[in-house]
Order: sequence, then structure tokens, then C-alpha cells
Amino acid sequence: MPDINRYAGQIALNDISIDGQKRLSGSTVTVVGLGGNGAIAAELFARMGIGRIRLIDNDNVRENNLHRQFLYGEDDLGKPKVISAAGRLKAINRSVDVEPANDYLTVKNSATLLKGSSLVYDGTDNFASRYAINSACVDLGIPFVMTSSLQYWGEIIPVLPGKTACLKCLNIPGVEEGSCSRIGIFPPAVALVAAIAVSTAVSILTGKLEAGYIKIADARNGTVETIITERNPACPVCGKLT
Ligand SMILES: [Zn+2]
Repeated sequence: MPDINRYAGQIALNDISIDGQKRLSGSTVTVVGLGGNGAIAAELFARMGIGRIRLIDNDNVRENNLHRQFLYGEDDLGKPKVISAAGRLKAINRSVDVEPANDYLTVKNSATLLKGSSLVYDGTDNFASRYAINSACVDLGIPFVMTSSLQYWGEIIPVLPGKTACLKCLNIPGVEEGSCSRIGIFPPAVALVAAIAVSTAVSILTGKLEAGYIKIADARNGTVETIITERNPACPVCGKLT
């Protein structure tokens, strides 16, 4: 039974209520990539009382992460992100089980790392990882939320395997890896994307998300555009699901 007093503010919301809070407390959310989006999302998941949070990343904290990546401070420089993040999340909410994995997700290990998740939060920064998550989640029947952000903008795409379009259905074009330091990243864009994506994740975990979409968030102008997506019956990844 979740702590009613601690979560009173969100239990009072019609879309969550006590039933939704029980679902959140009984969920396992895996956050892949603990950069800007992933770190903010992990903190929101811990504060909202997700029962178990798995963290997957093999990077160490660098100074040029600190302008946008919550969970880390100057004392964490050079340390593995998953270790610093896990310590911070436990300090925020000790009732959450936190499982750090200092690992890099690939096509080969994705099923092992993601198995057993109620939902996967994709906070990675490259399309090889995103498509590996897409294939594994479709095969395992795990919903996931893809996030990406660059400069002032970001995208959020929820995928419910067999129900909404997967990334391959949409053939989302890739953005070059490591582009943030070269092309720029506006910290509020990362926070905006994470806020929308965690809200989407909560809708999925509480059984309220039906349609697939792409949301395009613009932190400079404060706008969010929604494009409804359709599955591609010939999709090589999810076409086999009815
Ligand atoms: Zn598909």
C-alpha cells in the first residue's frame, strides 16, 4: 500500500487517484540513458513513488553535463552516473528500489536489461540505442517512451507494442551522436521534454494512453505540437503483432 500522506497531492488528481498510485507503486520503470532527459525523468519517477527504478548508463559525470543534468553536482564529477543517480534517488525516496546497471545497452544485451520492466524510458542520445530499445520492447511487449532533444526542441514518442506505431513504423530519421556539445542544448528544452515524457509514462502506467503520437516541444516559444501516428502494417519490427 503506497504512503497516502506522502503522495496526497497526486492522489487528489482524478487521473491518478489511489488506484493509479497503487499501479505506480507496483511498477518497474527502466530509464536508459541518464543524461538531461533521463536524469530529470528518474527524479520525477522516484518522487512520484514508482516502486522499482532501473538505471542503465555507462558514462561518468562530466563538467559540461552539469548545466542540464539534474541529480549530479560538482562532487560527482568523474563518478559513474548510475552510482551518483542511485544515491540521489535513494536520498529522495528510500522506499523506491533502485537498481543501477553501469552498462551500455546494445541489440545484444537489450532483452536481458529490459526484461521485467513495466515501462522503459528512453533517454538515450543516439538512434542505434533507440532502435535497439524499440525492437526489444516490441518483442517483449513492454511499452516505452522515446525522448530526444537538441538545441531548443525535443520529441516525445510513446510506443505501445501492437497498439501504436513503433519507431520503425515512423522511420524517424537519426540525429548524429554527441551532437549536444557541438550544436548546443538549451537546459529548459531538456526539462520540458522530460516533463511531457514522464506525464506520458504515467498515463501509460495508469492505463490511460490509447492513441500513438509524436509530440514536438519548443522550449524557446513554449509550444507543443501533437501529430497523431498510425501503425505501418508492413513494419518489419511490429508488423507481426495483431
Ligand atoms: Zn512498427
